[in-house]
Amino acid sequence: MSSENRGERLKNRMRVLTERFVAQLPERLDELRLLIDGVLYHPQDEDGRFKARMSAHKIAGAAGTFGFETLGTVCRAIESSIDRFEAERTGDSMRDELEALKGHLYRLSAEHLEPDVLEHLEEVPKSGGADSVSSEILQERILVLGNADSDQDDLLEQLRHFGLQASYLESLTDLENQLHPSELIILCADIQAMMPDFAGLSLSDLVEKQNGRFAWVAVSRIDDFPLRLAAVRHGASEFFTYPVDVPQLLDKVREIAGSLRPEPIHVLIVDDDIDQVSATAYTLQQAGMITSVASDPRQVFAIMVESKPELVITDMYMPECNGIELSRLIRQQEAFVGIPIIFLSVEEDSKRHIDAMSEGGDDFLVKPVRPEYLIAKVRMRAQRARDMRFFMEHDSLTGLLNHSHLKQRLEEELLRASRVGNELSFAMIDIDRFKSVNDTYGHLTGDRVLKSLSRMLQDRLRKTDTIGRYGGEEFGVILFNASLDVATRIMDDLREAFSQIVHHSANGDFQVTFSCGLSGYPELEDAKLIGDTADKALYRAKETGRNKVVRA
Ligand code: GH3
Ligand code: MG
Ligand code: MG
Repeated sequence: MSSENRGERLKNRMRVLTERFVAQLPERLDELRLLIDGVLYHPQDEDGRFKARMSAHKIAGAAGTFGFETLGTVCRAIESSIDRFEAERTGDSMRDELEALKGHLYRLSAEHLEPDVLEHLEEVPKSGGADSVSSEILQERILVLGNADSDQDDLLEQLRHFGLQASYLESLTDLENQLHPSELIILCADIQAMMPDFAGLSLSDLVEKQNGRFAWVAVSRIDDFPLRLAAVRHGASEFFTYPVDVPQLLDKVREIAGSLRPEPIHVLIVDDDIDQVSATAYTLQQAGMITSVASDPRQVFAIMVESKPELVITDMYMPECNGIELSRLIRQQEAFVGIPIIFLSVEEDSKRHIDAMSEGGDDFLVKPVRPEYLIAKVRMRAQRARDMRFFMEHDSLTGLLNHSHLKQRLEEELLRASRVGNELSFAMIDIDRFKSVNDTYGHLTGDRVLKSLSRMLQDRLRKTDTIGRYGGEEFGVILFNASLDVATRIMDDLREAFSQIVHHSANGDFQVTFSCGLSGYPELEDAKLIGDTADKALYRAKETGRNKVVRA
């Protein structure tokens, strides 16, 4: 097929998709308005809030894809407003904000549903949406199968301290009844109890058939080759021996869950040719990526700051500035130094390719490029850049943000909090008498304690909170939209849960506690001051007996 035909076909496809979106819009907006009313009048209904947020999220994504910028902006604002809406601590201003946004939605829908709406489809879709990406939410649930003895009771209790849903599975024949499309079930099964016939069930078939919604790990009293082989043959993801290292088990759970829903790659496409842009955007969206589009290089920086793409694809020849100049401009800004840039052009002169690369381009693809090739290149470059960024920003032992990036994040979050008028709390955590843990149980066991605290913070705090390792056995947490009162409660619950965790070592089992100091905005406005006062509060917690939370 000629590239012209292909472009034509993609454009038609886009048009069909757009028409369908427009046709469904009135109904979807009505539904969203009802859901917003639900949030306003039944603030305790978490499920309703979740549905409203998802509805706004999906419309925002699709609106972006099909060029309805204002609609997209309003829906994103609604989404963020619902996100910040919390039953107990939402004041009138939050309600007013949501009401006002709902009003916008009314006015918008009238204007956007005029019959001539398809006129503006002749323009390129302005930015990409997340609609092509599967937005299903998978919940993790852990089932424990075995003799329900004390080891297993312990395991269940520990899992719950980490904030996970965990329960006993009475028998393997019951397993299939427990599977649910919106859940990821992880079975921790005592392999000796299941041998030799696994209740006639093929677990490896089930792993395959459930396509990522089911995984299992073997737990065993003995560690020997035949048992490990049996586990592998039956599709087990991992083999643990009692007592199970719970943080390690949870890392495995995260790994399984993470491979099921990798964060979609976000690509910015810069090209003044409308057909080219839609074709490239469509190809990448089909591969599950999110796309933003700039038809004019002058829009590039605004988009890069606003939507933070991870990779840029740019045309070579554009009226205002060429691709090489654009990549020079991008590389001049420190924040964008690491971002991969791929040139996509009809230019076949290899000397020009070399020039382009020496100006900071990472790849040069000649149009027309095979879609699979484009997708593979983008994936590879974006993944490599992600890995680099992760290593630079995170601590290698715990995978948490490192000291400098946590501090940077605190500054950013403070700006955001003051912009939207939110509260913010900052917690400094320091493990109590950690030196003696190392001295008594060894440094490696000490490391495992650090990892288990890190795991617990990640599993029990909200997605909007930021967690970092401050250094040694000290951690820092930024709690967004949490007053000092709320943060004190949250950190105290965590302190209690952490103190209940039983750590295992060759020299016996033991428990550890931590102390915590809190400070926050708007009481204080400066990041450094907030850090210092949290540190002082922590010192006071240590002085006055440890294993406690003290606020500045
Ligand atoms: P306090 O209750 O006053 O905080 O007492 P502490 O023993 O926890 O405090 P101190 O600051 O005296 O000791 C901290 C110890 O943490 C000393 C250091 O060896 C240990 N540590 C720091 N980083 C690591 C690490 O990465 N792994 C391990 N295992 N230990 C570490
Ligand atoms: Mg310390
Ligand atoms: Mg300490």
